[in-house]
Amino acid sequence: GCPQVVIVGRPNVGKRSLLNWLAGVRVAIVDDQPGVTRDRVTYLMNHEDRFFELVDTGGMGFQDMDDLTSHIEQQIDLAIDSADLILLVVDTRDGMLPLDQEVARRLRQVQTPIMLVANKADDESFDTQADEFYRLGRGKPIRVSTLQNRNRAVLLNLIVEELPPQQDDVAAETDDPEMKVAIVGR
Ligand code: GDP
Repeated sequence: GCPQVVIVGRPNVGKRSLLNWLAGVRVAIVDDQPGVTRDRVTYLMNHEDRFFELVDTGGMGFQDMDDLTSHIEQQIDLAIDSADLILLVVDTRDGMLPLDQEVARRLRQVQTPIMLVANKADDESFDTQADEFYRLGRGKPIRVSTLQNRNRAVLLNLIVEELPPQQDDVAAETDDPEMKVAIVGR
């Protein structure tokens, strides 16, 4: 089907915010307090005539180190299973935390292309701060801010460039959806 772009990163770096921001709609609620259960969310994106599915695993909130580790393992398992591209998200304001390095370490064996996204670069003054993430060994951190709407088009263009080559039959099948239908009930 359509290429999968899976968002990975430690809690609170802005993964869910990134999904909502790129989608351009509020697909899901962003929690300010940790410990809240969140569902996996996907959104069908269309940029420069390319379709891809953006995925945030959501998962459980984190209470202790064990939950946290299993949450990150969940994300990485999903990325290994289904991703055509992984967005490794970090928080420029917090800077590098041991958990960022742990996530990067766990991704080391993964063959899928990875793009490093330095979120919360709310203005230019944060851009040099983001340089420290070069140490993760994933190339140039792409500075964005979901809050200040910085570099959305830059990021989308880079994502589309990294997608696997398009198959014509897939393109023909995935026309713009006319509407979205939610099925509800007990
Ligand atoms: P997740 O746990 O990685 O999914 O992170 P969330 O999307 O829930 O965001 C965690 C917190 O970071 C929330 O309070 C967001 O409002 C905040 N946040 C997200 N993006 C930005 C940003 O670009 N700049 C700043 N300053 N805060 C942000």
